Amino acid sequence: MTQKRILRLILGDQLNSRHSWFQGLDPKVTYLLMEIRQETDYVKHHIQKIAGFFAAMRSFADWLSDSGHRVQYLRLNDPDNRHNFEDNIKKVIKTKKINRFEYLQPDEYRLDRQLETITSELPLPVEVADTEHFICRRYDVKKMFYCKKRFLMESFYRKMRRNHHILMENGKPSGGQWNFDRRNRNRYDGNVPIPPPKVFENDVTALVRMIENAGVTTIGSIQPEHFIWPVNRNQARLLMDEFVSHRLPYFGTYQDAMTTESWSLFHSRLSFALNTKMLHPMEVIDAALRRASGNVKPRVEIEQIEGFVRQILGWREFIRGIYWAQMPDYEKMNYFDHKTSLPDYYWTGETRMACMRSAIDQSLTHAYAHHIQRLMITGNFALLAGVDPDKVDRWYLGVYMDAIQWVEIVNTRGMSQFADGGRVATKPYVSTARYIHAMSDYCNTCIYKWNKRYGEGACPFNSLYWYFFHRNRQRLKKIPRIGMMLRTWDHMEKREQHQILQQADNYRKRLDRL
Ligand code: FAD
Ligand code: SF4
Repeated sequence: MTQKRILRLILGDQLNSRHSWFQGLDPKVTYLLMEIRQETDYVKHHIQKIAGFFAAMRSFADWLSDSGHRVQYLRLNDPDNRHNFEDNIKKVIKTKKINRFEYLQPDEYRLDRQLETITSELPLPVEVADTEHFICRRYDVKKMFYCKKRFLMESFYRKMRRNHHILMENGKPSGGQWNFDRRNRNRYDGNVPIPPPKVFENDVTALVRMIENAGVTTIGSIQPEHFIWPVNRNQARLLMDEFVSHRLPYFGTYQDAMTTESWSLFHSRLSFALNTKMLHPMEVIDAALRRASGNVKPRVEIEQIEGFVRQILGWREFIRGIYWAQMPDYEKMNYFDHKTSLPDYYWTGETRMACMRSAIDQSLTHAYAHHIQRLMITGNFALLAGVDPDKVDRWYLGVYMDAIQWVEIVNTRGMSQFADGGRVATKPYVSTARYIHAMSDYCNTCIYKWNKRYGEGACPFNSLYWYFFHRNRQRLKKIPRIGMMLRTWDHMEKREQHQILQQADNYRKRLDRL
């Protein structure tokens, strides 16, 4: 009888050490991980993102070997590395005389299809296993909203709370409400000190040198001797513990605030650890829920905890469900038919707009911006400027530590650019400078005047905002929540409208130099 030899593939975002695959030792199994050009080059990534993924993969492979598993790890500079999944998998199957291939369900559409194609040609049995990471199955959201025009996050979230008995008491939401947004989402007033971001001191110097020597083109900067992101489960748990102890008590209150005093405020920065699956979403939710009871100190108010649980149990699972319900059509949607190029300052931070400079600078420095910076600064501006969603997508997919297409594209194309015509968001997330001024301190030092619509020093967000409504009137008037803005525009004096449109035209002509 032929001896069984099984090859199991682990992708860079499948570092789930609690997966059932790893619960017992099986000498017949070899685990395969690989650093390949296919993945470093499909979009221009931030150097911290590539270094972070590779460091976490290496650390995971070490953990597997130390636990007694057989591991084959292909480094970027291994001479045997063929730099794509197909050739590497086929080569290892041949050299190790593998007679069964198994892999975990990829979260990205392109990899899902690629592995399906590769495996359909393999002359051996193949099995696909669940990653055991998400709370919902791939197509649950699709089934829930079958034949509906819109995906409604609120109904999905309430269902999740009920189904998983999270923040529920006798069938009712804890605290008597599903949502505490009204008490949350304040401007940061300086009353509560913001703890400095929890960072690690990982040394990734050799890794970065290898990436550079290989000629991989990247964006952003890195301090390789003090790499700040968690690269293994222990560090990920430390980041989670620090968050629930020191930031969760103010998470909801300052969730939408932006300040030049801190680049991450009270946010968790757990998205990288979650998206690589070093952490399970339920363990993060449980850690937060433990703070609701009086047993673990400090006790945290329900409005803070609910605000956080909503992000993970609600938004994260919902977004993933939409991705699988809508791909591959989703990546081509362009509702407003936007065609403008992405201004160069998205890559350099060299703009006079203080809000954009701050959000872009920190993205290039830390590979991180929090949700409102992504949505209401860089995303808002791209939509107002009419930038082609393909270009916007590529930027978001490259620049952030946590960017993986299943979560990036629905947030970018749907939530932020409304390129899906409103399947995710109930209205386009656009604003004038009034909102940015209300939620941040950016305007205080800006060369532009937040309260001027046209004329010398007028803030670009203002005229571009009204131009957006004017230009897209036919499409926007179909959206119920937008009617009021169109009426406000219609009630403006013709002279005022003319000045605003002229200002917008002027800014659009020199978009790259704002
Ligand atoms: P926190 O504010 O601490 O929130 C806690 C967790 O909730 C996050 O770690 C994340 O896992 C989850 N979460 C919160 N909001 C969302 C959301 N809208 N969608 C999915 N999960 C959410 N998130 C990514 O993980 N990868 C991306 O590539 C990505 N691209 C985005 C692009 C745009 C244009 C926008 C507007 C948002 C994007 N987001 C993305 C969602 C969100 O901005 C990030 O998850 C969040 O900023 C990560 O920081 P944090 O861990 O400190 O989050
Ligand atoms: Fe941004 Fe306008 Fe405020 Fe300047 S004035 S920071 S450009 S919103």
